Amino acid sequence: MTLIRADLHIHTTFSDDSQTTPKNLVEQLVAHPTIKVAAVTDHDSVKGINTVRQLAQPYPDILILPGVEISTPQGDILILGTEQLPPKPWTIENVVDFAKDNACVSVAAHPFREWGLGDLTRDSKVDAIEVLNGASSTQANKQAHELAKSMKLPGVAGSDSHQPSELYSVYTEVQASMNVDEILKAIKKGAVTVSQTEKSIHF
Ligand SMILES: [Zn+2]
Repeated sequence: MTLIRADLHIHTTFSDDSQTTPKNLVEQLVAHPTIKVAAVTDHDSVKGINTVRQLAQPYPDILILPGVEISTPQGDILILGTEQLPPKPWTIENVVDFAKDNACVSVAAHPFREWGLGDLTRDSKVDAIEVLNGASSTQANKQAHELAKSMKLPGVAGSDSHQPSELYSVYTEVQASMNVDEILKAIKKGAVTVSQTEKSIHF
């Protein structure tokens, strides 16, 4: 069985509020001893994906997962596996349906933090729940974990990093090889566990 470790929630400078350049993302991914997959999930934009991918191209042992974090009026939803934006209006339903129709994975991002779907997640038909968010409190992550358990949905982890120093603070371990489609399918099946990176790993 192959296991990969992925940070499934990363903002680059293609998000207005992030200082992490595509170069920062790729360099730290190359240097990281165990996390080798990174999802680019900028706010409402897929413009950074090609830049990150081009920088990653010389390194065969890392993988960039395309994605986006869509701001719906009710809260943020990650779409993993897309290089395109869903059609507007960005309702919960439109975003989740777009993910399903395009073999992507929809994730309720940090449901119990600001800009999270909260209890609306229950009616949202998302594929997974972000149960470990690097920028959320322990309490908010615990609540998300309990929600995923009660909904019998897979739980994933992402750093939600907006600074180079916050990259790869948490990771999702996926039973898949270094292949985007395999990773997406494994997440949907729930072949995932989440972990926090050891504090000793610094860059
Ligand atoms: Zn985010």
